Amino acid sequence: MMKITVASGKGGTGKTTIATNLAYLAAQNGRKVAYIDCDVEEPNGHLFLKPLIASSKLIGRLHPRVDEDRCTHCGPCGEICQYSAIVCVGEKVLVHPELCHACGGCVLVCQPGAITEVLRDCGTLEAGNAGEVRFVHGVLNIGEAMSTPLVQQVKAAAPEADLVIIDSPPGTSCPVIESVRGADLVLLVTEPTPFGLHDLTLAVGMVRALKLSLGVVVNRAGSGDNRTREYCQREGIEILSEIPDDRHIAEAYSRGLLAAETVPAFRTALEPLLARFSEDDAS
Ligand code: SF4
Ligand code: SF4
Repeated sequence: MMKITVASGKGGTGKTTIATNLAYLAAQNGRKVAYIDCDVEEPNGHLFLKPLIASSKLIGRLHPRVDEDRCTHCGPCGEICQYSAIVCVGEKVLVHPELCHACGGCVLVCQPGAITEVLRDCGTLEAGNAGEVRFVHGVLNIGEAMSTPLVQQVKAAAPEADLVIIDSPPGTSCPVIESVRGADLVLLVTEPTPFGLHDLTLAVGMVRALKLSLGVVVNRAGSGDNRTREYCQREGIEILSEIPDDRHIAEAYSRGLLAAETVPAFRTALEPLLARFSEDDAS
């Protein structure tokens, strides 16, 4: 099985366009493909792949519950919590479940045994099929601050496939690190602009720190300058595909269509990537 994570240093670079179309094309080429949308705060791969959802389940996370009858308002729970998820204020202990990292520290330090851990829903995991593509995504509850635990669950739910394409959240924060962890190849999607290059350098730093293979996909090639190409050359990073700046691709996106179905130039631009996946799989 080959695992590809499609990521980007910032949102709006076309990451999901690349991930969904790659999944679609690879399946058309006869590969057994799974598309896993780990961008749980804003999952939108389903808008393009249009899966039939066959299963849906709530995902829970642990957080502390305080028994007021046992609580002596002594305070160590709030002192150990690094995330201000539990705070002792005078005669009250306030719990903010959405900030809790479920480390269990407050339970350990509560001498009177006033704290128990209870489960709380943080999001939903859905799975199904989009034609030949096996589909999984997670949807984080609105207001939930912690997305990494749901990303872990979404990854763990990946069905059996010989090519798994993971659509990562944008940026370089914890949920992104969780999304790229274990990937055989990380595709960093960028635009050839100064802002795009800045965010690309951050993303490259993250992937290299994790010691993972990486390649770059330049989206809207021809719309900016040459600095992204120069940077990749200097750093010895392979540009695996350059997607032309074509308004038909943007139109397909805005209509919720897979550009690979309607824009031949887009499909052609992705072919080297698909060939690369087949080569890497064979090696
Ligand atoms: S450590 Fe336990 S007993 Fe002390 S304030 Fe916190 S919940 Fe209450
Ligand atoms: S489990 Fe950890 S993160 Fe959550 S409230 Fe307790 S100390 Fe804070």
